[in-house]
Amino acid sequence: MHRFFIKKENIQNNEIIFPEEISHQIKRVLRLSSGDHVIALNNEGDEFHVQLQEINDKVVRASILEKSPVQNEPKIQLTLMVCLTQREKFELIMQKCTEIGVTCIQPVISSRSLVQNIDEVKSKYLRWHKIIQEAAEQSHRGLLPKFNEPVSFKQLVTLKDVNPDLKLILWEEETGKVIKQSLHGFTGSSVSLLVGPEGGFSHEEVALAVEGGFIPVSLGRRILRMETAAIISTGIVMYEFDL
Ligand code: SAM
Repeated sequence: MHRFFIKKENIQNNEIIFPEEISHQIKRVLRLSSGDHVIALNNEGDEFHVQLQEINDKVVRASILEKSPVQNEPKIQLTLMVCLTQREKFELIMQKCTEIGVTCIQPVISSRSLVQNIDEVKSKYLRWHKIIQEAAEQSHRGLLPKFNEPVSFKQLVTLKDVNPDLKLILWEEETGKVIKQSLHGFTGSSVSLLVGPEGGFSHEEVALAVEGGFIPVSLGRRILRMETAAIISTGIVMYEFDL
């Protein structure tokens, strides 16, 4: 059954009034008709099983048949802190890690990240929110992962408000601890993964991260591309705590 994230104002009494963009998708793309059933989600933990009633070019109305709590959110809050890079790669990371279960995407500008200036990417935010939303709808997520404004590496490792229980910096030069060891026996409820750029982290950055409470961990002896490292490490955390 098709799923659509909607806004609070789209829910009126016992009806859902889908906004124009979703109405277009329902009518023109999915070619659904009156009487069909879809799921609408308010991104606050509820999902609505609705039946389409009126369908026209501008608006689609549906009656709410049932309201229930969302089921598919992971048991662990996972924030992916990932260095800004060229568009396709960054979008692949956001799409795949949304499907796998991240709850927040925090872009970072480090000394070697391909993107050094936030102005280079501001115009992409709308597109990126759409990619996250489509990935969340396709993977039957109950909530949309948050997308934060990019921050500098220095700001990130000294960020006080983002204080997960466990902060890991993925470092290919780490020889002491592999990610499995840091996750084993962890009983907290939130993890942050910090993934470096194509050129890696500088030693100064790793030292700064350690000072900020991050634990350097290895993903094994092979050197992974940043998108591989982001996706596989997200999967490892979900494997450990949510499967
Ligand atoms: N030093 C790497 C090289 O020689 O190509 C450059 C960085 S790697 C391409 C991109 C990022 O993926 C790294 O900054 C790190 O965060 C992560 N990464 C890749 N392989 C890893 C591994 N075996 N263990 C931990 N992190 C890894």
